[in-house]
Amino acid sequence: MRDAVDQLIQYMLMKRLTGRSEVVIAIIDYYVNGASPSDIGAKLRVSRLKVRGWIQRVAEKCNYSHSVAARVAGRVAAAVMEVDPIIVRVGGKALCTICGAALRDDERALRRHILRQHGEEFRTLAELVRRRLGGELGRSENKNKN
Ligand SMILES: [Zn+2]
Repeated sequence: MRDAVDQLIQYMLMKRLTGRSEVVIAIIDYYVNGASPSDIGAKLRVSRLKVRGWIQRVAEKCNYSHSVAARVAGRVAAAVMEVDPIIVRVGGKALCTICGAALRDDERALRRHILRQHGEEFRTLAELVRRRLGGELGRSENKNKN
């Protein structure tokens, strides 16, 4: 479980930091609001298959346990949304808000930039999300009684 939470944090936090918040929003819509991949796709203007792909990544990180995914994915996503993105898009360019670099708007290039240039910040933010979740997940134990 702990491992799944860590992997979900790494995955969703990187999406959020590189300005790909739609992935995190899709995960909230699916796991918290119970929306279907086609409804989520229509809302975010991406294909249903793309949404399915993101959900598949979440399932994979939870070792395909639906109960683990159902229990933690939405909470991790909500905690990740409280962190501000590092990469912002201005006039078709991707800009790093930490060092000011103008970057190629390519997911892998952006991820590499964050990990190489701001690895310390990334780890600090991941730890912040993890700590915030510690309490959340603890409290969730009592919800099963309802
Ligand atoms: Zn930078």
